[in-house]
Amino acid sequence: GTCQLSGTVRDCSCEYAAVERVNREAVLPVLRDLVRQPFFRYFKVSLYCDCPFWPDDGMCVLRDCSVCPCEDHEVPAPWKAADSGQTCEGSPRLEAESAVDRRVDASTKEHLVSIRGWRGFNNPWMLEDEGDVEYSYINLLMNPERYTGYKGEHAHRIWNLIYSQSCFSNINDPDTCAERRVFYRLISGMHASISAHIAKEYLLDERADKWGPNLALFRERLGNEGVRERVENLYFAYLFVLRAALKAGPLLREAAYDTGSPLEDARTSELVRKLVDSKAVKQACPVPFDEGRLWKGEDGEELKRQLQAHFHNITKAMDCVGCEKCKLWGKLQILGIATSLKVLFSAEDCSGDQTAEPQLKLERNEVIAMLNLLERLAASIEVVREMSLQLADSANHP
Ligand code: FAD
Repeated sequence: GTCQLSGTVRDCSCEYAAVERVNREAVLPVLRDLVRQPFFRYFKVSLYCDCPFWPDDGMCVLRDCSVCPCEDHEVPAPWKAADSGQTCEGSPRLEAESAVDRRVDASTKEHLVSIRGWRGFNNPWMLEDEGDVEYSYINLLMNPERYTGYKGEHAHRIWNLIYSQSCFSNINDPDTCAERRVFYRLISGMHASISAHIAKEYLLDERADKWGPNLALFRERLGNEGVRERVENLYFAYLFVLRAALKAGPLLREAAYDTGSPLEDARTSELVRKLVDSKAVKQACPVPFDEGRLWKGEDGEELKRQLQAHFHNITKAMDCVGCEKCKLWGKLQILGIATSLKVLFSAEDCSGDQTAEPQLKLERNEVIAMLNLLERLAASIEVVREMSLQLADSANHP
């Protein structure tokens, strides 16, 4: 039959059923609300086609593929102020005052680092931009992730490039190290999530502009025994990013979510706290993922450097995606994964004093990417649940 998952999620210590339930009841509703708030709906990104691997493909054919940048008046004023304050020569000013809301007791507010580019701050998993890269703000609500018509050879070339990274070869060998497997499962989980959103929001009738679920596509990509592992990887990626969000909880809970709309920004803070302090999550799954056991081997540091190099290649592959909307969500999700990796492994990134926990610093775009990614994965888990039920139903009543 369809993907009926039971038991414990591999590499984690949570039961599938518990994850599904707590996601549906406690996590997804909060995240759905959260990503609609102004702070979380504007993502800064460069959508230029700068593919280092092959000549540019051009944009895809469907109109549903292109992205409109925000009108200037839409971008939160404090963010624009922070951007323009940093155009001066030399290194960017890292901590923009304007990122902190001084009207609300400033002493309790964490600074989110604010930088000019879009790739996050001191993130060893992201490549730095070379020179001054043009970027724009995109309203994510106006550009939902769904079927775009990007497929075939062009899309396969990207996925091939990703899965042919040497760190992914023989990934199913029993003696493959946990680090490589974790890494693979994050990418495969993100891929499964993209497929879930395509299946849930498919263009059923182009003339009538009719969108809806495509059960046959779901069955082929996520809903059959042969691809069970993809769904397992989706759950894994979800638990990994959830763990990162909880670990970053102390910072996220106190962060200033300033977009210049005090009411909505207060709501944003409230929702973030609701998520990171959720008792339901702690009960269902106290440690979604245990990052402490990674990089412990003799060659841990070397392995980490290798995987970082592979991850950098994957970030470059995103520049080759020939469909703007896919590129937007691809880049957001890759930055979200990179941020989760940074959060979970930041302690190891501090050379020298290994005893003191270095203070984690996150940049606004990193927080936006990580929590939007978590929302995408959470929504996908629900898509898989719903569409698996529909499949079973259609099999029972043909
Ligand atoms: P694909 O999804 O292209 O998969 C290619 C091959 O990878 C499969 O044949 C299989 O061998 C393997 N594979 C598939 N899934 C997994 C998995 N979960 N884990 C491991 N291996 C797997 N299309 C849209 O319509 N909307 C989007 O928003 C969108 N975003 C995209 C973002 C990125 C970064 C990329 C690269 C592509 C995106 N696409 C999007 C295209 C989409 O992912 C598919 O490539 C396309 O729908 C064709 O699907 P397919 O069935 O041929 O298999």
